Amino acid sequence: MDLVGIRVEVKTMKFIFVTGGVLSGLGKGITTSSIGLLLKRSGVKVTAIKIDPYLNADAGTMNPYEHGEVFVLDDGGEVDLDLGNYERFLDVVLGSDHNITTGKVYRAVIDKERRGDYLGKTVQIVPHIVNEIKAMITSVGEASGAEVVLIEMGGTVGDMESMPFIEAARQLQMEVGEENLLFVHTTLIPIMGAVGEQKTKPTQHSVKELRAIGVQPDIIVGRCAEPLNDDTKNKIALFCNVPAERVYSAHDVRYTYEVPSLLLKQGIIDVIGADLDLKVKGCDMGSWERFVERIDKPKDVVRIALVGKYTGLKDSYISHYKSFEHSGAEVGVKVEIAWIDAPESSRSFEDEVKRMQEELSKCHGILVPGGFGTRGSEGKIEAIRYARENGIPFLGICLGLQMAVIEFCRNVIGLEGANSTEFDPDTTHPVVDILPEQLRVTQKGGTMRLGAQKTIIEKGTMAFDLYGKEEIMERHRHRYEVNPKYIDRIQKAGLTFSGISEDGIKMEISELKGSLFHMGCQFHPEFLSRPQRPAPLFRGFTQAAFDYKCKKG
Ligand code: GLN
Repeated sequence: MDLVGIRVEVKTMKFIFVTGGVLSGLGKGITTSSIGLLLKRSGVKVTAIKIDPYLNADAGTMNPYEHGEVFVLDDGGEVDLDLGNYERFLDVVLGSDHNITTGKVYRAVIDKERRGDYLGKTVQIVPHIVNEIKAMITSVGEASGAEVVLIEMGGTVGDMESMPFIEAARQLQMEVGEENLLFVHTTLIPIMGAVGEQKTKPTQHSVKELRAIGVQPDIIVGRCAEPLNDDTKNKIALFCNVPAERVYSAHDVRYTYEVPSLLLKQGIIDVIGADLDLKVKGCDMGSWERFVERIDKPKDVVRIALVGKYTGLKDSYISHYKSFEHSGAEVGVKVEIAWIDAPESSRSFEDEVKRMQEELSKCHGILVPGGFGTRGSEGKIEAIRYARENGIPFLGICLGLQMAVIEFCRNVIGLEGANSTEFDPDTTHPVVDILPEQLRVTQKGGTMRLGAQKTIIEKGTMAFDLYGKEEIMERHRHRYEVNPKYIDRIQKAGLTFSGISEDGIKMEISELKGSLFHMGCQFHPEFLSRPQRPAPLFRGFTQAAFDYKCKKG
């Protein structure tokens, strides 16, 4: 059996594997992003990979209300939301190959088997699957030109499905040498009892689990409500075989943006730099810390309603939430989000709409985000009508733009029953219709109009004011569009399309003439917003919400 398989020749590349123990949701993604940010600001070129041990080829077919938002990349990749964290923290553009799933690995191996690449061999998890994982990681790293590749291992150590990935990491360390690959393990340190003792047993157990599969962590990052005390660090050191100065405290902070500096102050970059023999310069966190200060000291608070579906799982709108942090810091306000579940068409619809309007009347801006399916669509249309009739700033994203067009056609132009064919295939006025190229599509995965596409902006419009240029690239994820047959009528009645696709056919940005801010976009500006570079539409919308609040008094 070819156990070593394809030996990876990686001379200059270094790897940092981040694993998680005890339970999920510990902030492994933030730890990974924070280490990446610190390295980047110390002059080291970094990139990041997320491993998701599920069988879906990508996150595109997964329900965001169970799994969190589907993040979209420039190349059209529909990926795990952690890639969004990396892009925002590291200010890089990643490709879909930076999200490795079990599905992708198995598909690659099975394709090779069918092609005859392993002719005569029994194809097995070891070595074939494990070799494929190593090959994927190293080729992504090489293509990025990064000096350090951070790899975040999804799931929790001990899960059956993550075994081949951890085995791949173990083998990779053997192949490239310990001086080129580090293991960072994040765990939970709960505080128990009346005296508030910090408990290390869960950490001990998860490290034991890791060591049983041949991996000794080099660094432990302990999530705790309070700073880890020396006793805790010493205990972890003793039982986990990691020196106490390599046990870092990731205690609760007000903003995740504070985590990088928290780790920096404890010396994590010096240790990583020495271990991996990196030339680290003094880490300059100046502009990042000023950004955190701006978030911390807003001059006012604006309240923005996010009218969506199942707003209970905030992770399904994480990029919106982050975009408001970025735009709020720039405008100088804190954006408070009022999560509003769009009323359903039902017998009590009118009462529910009234209740929603009461909530909306307390807000300074109304956002209708992207979405799929009929549920809540009538409620969203009512929210947009309320925004338009009362002059409350409104931003509609993707489905939100489509809903704004439907609302305008029904209530301003008078096209009764106007709708999207997504919700009513037999509508008399299909003002939103399927993209012609989508008619032949039968498979669901990866088949929408996806990724970065060009929009041409007309001068003298609100959109031009915000973007300051005529050509922009924004990320898309949709199957429907404004029906070209209705465009003239809509524009003549006062809803203009200030941004249009390069081919001149697809309506990309809408704005209501004479409004303070009533805009829609067919793309998703939230995917390109960055901490120190907010998405122009979010910046404009947040500013308008603040202006509206000042005017209203
Ligand atoms: N469901 C709509 C479409 O497919 C909107 C998609 C979205 O909001 N991402 O066009």
